[in-house]
Amino acid sequence: MPAVKEPRLEAASRIQFLRGVGPTRAALFERLGLVTLEDLLRHYPRAYLDARRFVRIADLRPGELVTVEGRVKHAAALRTRVGRTDFVATIEDASGTIPCYFFGQPFLARTFRHGARVVVSGELDALEGRMLNPMFEVVEGEVEERLHVGRLVPVHALTRGITARGMRSAVRHALEAAATRIPDPVPEEVRRAHGLLGLGESLAQIHLPDDDAHLADARRRLAFEELFLLQSVMELRRRALQQEGRGLSSAGPGSLAAAVRAKLPFTLTADQERALEEIVSDLRASHPMHRLLLGDVGSGKTVVALLAALHAIEAGHQVAFMAPTEILARQHFATLTGLCAGAEVPLAVLTAATPAKERRALLARLDAGEAALVLGTHALLDEKVKLPRLALAIVDEQHRFGVRQRATLAQKSVIPDVLVLTATPIPRTLTLAWYGDLDVSRLRARPPGRGRLVTRVAGEEKFPHVIDFMARELAAGRQAFVVLPLIEEGGRLEARAAEAEFERLASHPRLSPHKVALLHGRLKAEDKQAVMEGFAAGRIQVLVTTTVVEVGVDVPNATLMVVENAERFGLTQLHQLRGRVGRGAARSVCVLIPGPTATTRARERLDVLSRTEDGFAIAEADLELRGPGELWGTRQSGLPRLKLADLARDEALLEEARAAARALVEADPWLQQGAHAALKAALIGQYREPLELALAG
Ligand code: ADP
Ligand code: MG
Repeated sequence: MPAVKEPRLEAASRIQFLRGVGPTRAALFERLGLVTLEDLLRHYPRAYLDARRFVRIADLRPGELVTVEGRVKHAAALRTRVGRTDFVATIEDASGTIPCYFFGQPFLARTFRHGARVVVSGELDALEGRMLNPMFEVVEGEVEERLHVGRLVPVHALTRGITARGMRSAVRHALEAAATRIPDPVPEEVRRAHGLLGLGESLAQIHLPDDDAHLADARRRLAFEELFLLQSVMELRRRALQQEGRGLSSAGPGSLAAAVRAKLPFTLTADQERALEEIVSDLRASHPMHRLLLGDVGSGKTVVALLAALHAIEAGHQVAFMAPTEILARQHFATLTGLCAGAEVPLAVLTAATPAKERRALLARLDAGEAALVLGTHALLDEKVKLPRLALAIVDEQHRFGVRQRATLAQKSVIPDVLVLTATPIPRTLTLAWYGDLDVSRLRARPPGRGRLVTRVAGEEKFPHVIDFMARELAAGRQAFVVLPLIEEGGRLEARAAEAEFERLASHPRLSPHKVALLHGRLKAEDKQAVMEGFAAGRIQVLVTTTVVEVGVDVPNATLMVVENAERFGLTQLHQLRGRVGRGAARSVCVLIPGPTATTRARERLDVLSRTEDGFAIAEADLELRGPGELWGTRQSGLPRLKLADLARDEALLEEARAAARALVEADPWLQQGAHAALKAALIGQYREPLELALAG
């Protein structure tokens, strides 16, 4: 009788075939996006519980990262004033109790059941006397053993129906079955040169580390892999663009730009001059430009972009100028029309509000290749918009524009030059990681003639003073913004919160002589338009708004901005927001009011803004505090997220990965060598879309 064979598992085998899993549980894993053994092994722990830092609740001290073990004494969801549901669980051990507070996570009620034994790990907040958003785990027998032998216990992201223990056991079996069989995408030559562990060993140590040193080595190696793959894509893209040399040489001699310049009510700053030269020289060159024009809000990017565009127009080309919203597209159109007054510049605007007839006529002219500078939103990327002579695409505010959009543009003509205008002071690591060799022009100095901008952080109890101050500013003929954070995607709660605040202010006796208006994402386009125009024209004195004013609005008479629940914004976002005031010659004030649930640390963080106006310092602080994700819109970038690499801390590793990728692509531009087969397969697996887009055509 033949022996019964255990099925031989490969990295690509389904989790279902692991010992103790089966189809029902496999479906649960699938909810986490985990199908194959490799998926499971790439599901790195999100944290580790460190048994060496266990303390009694009575011995908790603020500011130390520690772990506490106890039972759930009490747990409840809490509805907050702003309409969010938070969760609080009180944990008890023999020495005392400690509340743990979780923002916006009502579903934790399923985990923190009364009497359950849990381990929570985090920091005691001094002011609040509680742990805020700690890491946690429901304790089971197996964990206890591990905890008591003092090891690092991995904490994996879970889903309903899979316990921590179940996850760890599946991971352990997957490690045994397949860890050493996954082809390593980092070629041996690279591993050797950079002192990196092999893949199998790293996976074993990331999930079940022997100690801190092993964990650090594993993490370094896996983070390197992420960065190396990303940089390989960048290098392949760069080479493809260079070799084909498909850019256009698309700049005229500059007389059109000169005509517009001659009529400007100001002279360009030295920074603007230099940036313009850099851009125009890129337009002249035959390789495609991909350049970032970086400068704080109010630094004068628009006019630089316009003058550059005129060079392309003069040479008979088309230029698309994309703004993030319809309002801003129209506003840019108005601004550019003003700046071009007296010169013959074919300007056009295309938005959802453009009447059908006008729209058809414009589309026909564009399709016929007529030279034009056309403003709009991403709707310009729509396939119905044909731009056969598109030479330059200008994108205002990079963080809403991704790899995919760039590629869509490339399909409209030959590869157009791309100029991205941004006030987001992107740290160098991020530009390197996401764009490879993106060129950057910077506007550092602000145009002359601006008033001072003072930023203050004030507790909610100061609100009456803020209103008094506002009333005085309004009485002096100035205008004010009151900004509320985005609460949810889709904006229903946000709209409600904004409405409530609007009513409070509109009916406030101190503000009664003035007109208060409301602007939020759920208003109809015409209504938004009307409010914006009213504010710009000074008919409206106070604009209560959500983040729709984040970019582009230019109302020099606005001298006060009040930001509520300010801790919910990133520092960079706040820095951009406050750029909406301080545009005129008068002194301006920005008041940041943290919400009632803001932590001490969050308040301190806001102080950075009262101390500095250096956008780069602010961005670096933000990157350290919040990570790049939401801030710079990783998701929208069209690139996979980095799981382990941390762009705030891994700059050196990024440089190493970049050098390695460059050398490798240099030596083997099509990844044809056998030693690079695993790398190629991994790139195709993870970066199919960006790769295809990058190498498109
Ligand atoms: P941003 O960089 O935020 O897009 P804008 O291009 O909107 O800034 O410029 C802000 C304001 O500064 C505009 O009103 C613009 O006309 C004005 N401006 C631009 N350049 C100069 C300059 N060199 N001197 C004086 N004012 C300028
Ligand atoms: Mg702008």
